[in-house]
Amino acid sequence: MERRPTMQKLSVIDTHAHLDMKDFATDYDAVVARAIDAGVSKILTVGTDVKSSAKAIELSQKHPQIFAAVGIHPHDAANIQKTDINRIAEMVKSPKVVALGEMGLDFYRNYSPREAQLQVLKWQLELAAEVSLPVVIHDRQAASDVQKILAEWVKLIHPQCPGVIHCFSGDKQTAGRYLDMGFYLAFGGYISYPNSRAPEVIKTVPQDRLLVETDCPFLPPQAYRGKRNEPTYIILTVVTLGGILGKSAEAVANQTTENAERVFKF
Ligand SMILES: [Zn+2]
Repeated sequence: MERRPTMQKLSVIDTHAHLDMKDFATDYDAVVARAIDAGVSKILTVGTDVKSSAKAIELSQKHPQIFAAVGIHPHDAANIQKTDINRIAEMVKSPKVVALGEMGLDFYRNYSPREAQLQVLKWQLELAAEVSLPVVIHDRQAASDVQKILAEWVKLIHPQCPGVIHCFSGDKQTAGRYLDMGFYLAFGGYISYPNSRAPEVIKTVPQDRLLVETDCPFLPPQAYRGKRNEPTYIILTVVTLGGILGKSAEAVANQTTENAERVFKF
């Protein structure tokens, strides 16, 4: 009698989560347990200011599967001083910190003045060059400014892997320019939205540069739209990505895991 192989559980890395946010305060342990049980092998929890970066490190120290990125989000750039960047520099010494960020420019919401956003991004890029860590970049309606700054920075430091453009939602040309600079592109649950242009862009990205992320608690996949996102749902994004690329979910899980481990060296 021939036995059919049992369906293997996927092993996936969520490269961008905000586990420190208050959305997870009441059921944090259950959220992490659920993710691990579903096959999420690693989660990168990403700081957005000094306090949340410290919290990200704290969470990373409790679970072997959790790693931390530390940095200042462009939304939080107002009133940031160089001394705050020095505190981020101190945090880099924690062995679970594998990246700097989330940093970048957001000219859509403009929660912080543009000048402050630019200054805080530049400070963090200088730090990343000093400590040789990849960066996690947030670009919302600011691609031309972000690309101008990153192009100069990349030339200066010649990194093997400069980092990740998180939640990529730009067009093919924008993707191409980031890829030329050596960046990886991370895609989340929004690729399953009916009006998303991401599928067409994804097909043009070399598969060794693709990453998956949740950006939870934000941007849940279509099946959970309107609800809180959480790392477990990364599995759905891997399945969607497989559909777009004409590959099995397992192949996508393996490829994106390999890519994430190459970028973050974890
Ligand atoms: Zn984020």
